[in-house]
Amino acid sequence: MSSKAEALCPCGSGRLYGDCCQRLHQGQPAATAEALMRSRYSAFVFGMQEYLLESWDSRTRPAELPLDNDTRWFGLTVHDSQQDGDRATVSFSARFCEGKDWFCLSEVSAFALAADGHWRYVDGKADFQPLQPGRNDLCPCGSEKKYKKCCGA
Ligand SMILES: [Zn+2]
Ligand SMILES: [Zn+2]
Repeated sequence: MSSKAEALCPCGSGRLYGDCCQRLHQGQPAATAEALMRSRYSAFVFGMQEYLLESWDSRTRPAELPLDNDTRWFGLTVHDSQQDGDRATVSFSARFCEGKDWFCLSEVSAFALAADGHWRYVDGKADFQPLQPGRNDLCPCGSEKKYKKCCGA
């Protein structure tokens, strides 16, 4: 396995990437909409544009998805997921930073199970809240160091 596969998966499952989102990134269908949502988060972390488009419902998929290379993602929290037949919703939040600006994204995403057995992202309601970490606050990157000694240094 590559060192990436042996590192903790960015989706925060606590499993290794090789035992988690990598399988989905290699084409295995997600068992649940939540697993697909996690794999899409990991794909954002790794900048996997093609996977993000492939896992998007064909009815709502954009023609292209420009990814901003300056965006860094830190930590995903899944709050709730509900499935009703071939439809599902997942609510989650994630922190990210662009340059020195921090944000918390809260989103409720809708997913649909397609005839080919793959869950795909349909659409979502997203809310962006700016974060203003104080110098002595814990760093929003999740390092458990003070902001001034970490990303705010
Ligand atoms: Zn994962
Ligand atoms: Zn930090």
